[in-house]
Amino acid sequence: MSGAVWSYSENESVSNEVASAAADVAKGASAEPVVLEIGAVRAGVRAPGAKLLLKGPATSDVPPEVAAEAIAKASKQLQPAAILIGATRYGREIASRLAVKLTVGCLSEVSKLSADGNALAGERNAFAGKVVAKVSCALPAIATVKVGYYAAVESAGTAVTESDVGQVNPLVKVVSREKKAAGAVDLRSAKVIVSAGRGVKKKEDLPMLEELAREMHGALGCSRPLSSDLGWLPEEHHIGLTGVTVKPDLYLALGISGQLQHTAGMKDSKVVAAVNTDKDAPIFQASDYGIVGDLYQIVPAIRKALASRR
Ligand SMILES: Cc1cc2nc3c(=O)[nH]c(=O)nc-3n(C[C@H](O)[C@H](O)[C@H](O)COP(=O)(O)OP(=O)(O)OC[C@H]3O[C@@H](n4cnc5c(N)ncnc54)[C@H](O)[C@@H]3O)c2cc1C
Repeated sequence: MSGAVWSYSENESVSNEVASAAADVAKGASAEPVVLEIGAVRAGVRAPGAKLLLKGPATSDVPPEVAAEAIAKASKQLQPAAILIGATRYGREIASRLAVKLTVGCLSEVSKLSADGNALAGERNAFAGKVVAKVSCALPAIATVKVGYYAAVESAGTAVTESDVGQVNPLVKVVSREKKAAGAVDLRSAKVIVSAGRGVKKKEDLPMLEELAREMHGALGCSRPLSSDLGWLPEEHHIGLTGVTVKPDLYLALGISGQLQHTAGMKDSKVVAAVNTDKDAPIFQASDYGIVGDLYQIVPAIRKALASRR
């Protein structure tokens, strides 16, 4: 087994987060953090140490089964101590395929990763974030790393070594690709999030909250019913257990009851403020500031106060 901790994500900014996790793990295991690239080196991917380019696939844009096969081939040759993959939908598929191919254990969606030379350990939320489970796995091991937990690695190492993994034939042929509509939000990097819940009575009222978010230099998020059930906002706005995990400086929850599945995705926000007509709404338990009131009165009042300061 080599003294290396590999990190990989198909998404450049997630790759930079996973590289930070690999640097932490490598410290404890007296190993080197190595950022994997498949097919081609990407300019936006930073590395705390060296990069390892897996040559064979013609491009970095490969389907998960190709990434898994390429990483498995290189891993059999070079025997890293651990392989960390960003827990995106794509990354989860790579990690599970890889664990089967290499017959090693896999920790899922973990943060606070560490290693002591014998085992890889981390923490993961269980029961909608009510419980933190400490999990570990004997090395060599794989882990998918919780997206949004680690700060992106700062350093940009330039050394690139190569490993030829040869031709990997995809099982699935990509017939065509369509870009997502423009205007997609990046809630993970937003400093302020104004979040809408079922207290918003109709879709036509959302622009009022969107305006507030803009005036606060923030982004608009929502609870799951608004995106998944009502379809008022695209999926990438939905925060929680099955949505995005966020930790802005300010999270303003408007008409959100605060069920565990929602708070699991925003409980690490620095400051939480909530507006709800129900004084017993659970969101107040998760808030630093609370207003018992009607968002249709409170939102215009906040906007007026902000306007008077300009
Ligand atoms: C497996 C599973 C996964 C889930 N994952 C997620 C997830 O990731 N994210 C998520 O959000 N949910 C998730 N849910 C759904 C979750 O359980 C809740 O149903 C959802 O979060 C409730 O959304 P809400 O707070 O907007 O609506 P409600 O629970 O209906 O709350 C609306 C709130 O608005 C208040 N209100 C009403 N009118 C006003 C007004 N005029 N002004 C101010 N307040 C008002 C009410 O008092 C109430 O508290 C999941 C559920 C399951 C089963």
